[in-house]
Amino acid sequence: MDCLFCKIVEGSIPSQKVFENEQILAFKDIQPAAPVHVLIIPKKHIATMNDVAEEDLPLVAEMHKAAQQIAKELGVADTGYRLINNCGPDSGQAVYHIHYHLLGGAKLGALTG
Ligand code: C5P
Repeated sequence: MDCLFCKIVEGSIPSQKVFENEQILAFKDIQPAAPVHVLIIPKKHIATMNDVAEEDLPLVAEMHKAAQQIAKELGVADTGYRLINNCGPDSGQAVYHIHYHLLGGAKLGALTG
């Protein structure tokens, strides 16, 4: 499958990992939009949030658990952070393998539509 994030999971494309367990991988975004900018992905390929099936819901919960732990480890749990998922063309989703952007480490700008 020609998926960039599946290749990162396999290790054929390098990444700066910040968290890994059996189901989840998190790594630094190569084009950080904030001092802390981490991508949290399931190892299983799911293209968009629209494609999350009932059986995948525990995996989404695991992504949130990973976000809590990463935020603590990177020192932004108390100062605050944002978790963003882009879904589909209008959102600007560039990589069709679900991911949360965890952004923090500075006062973030207002969300714009
Ligand atoms: O939500 P969206 O699909 O637009 O985000 C994809 C993100 O993946 C971008 O922020 C981009 O910088 C990041 N990326 C990365 N490593 C790659 C390719 C893309 O961190 N090798």
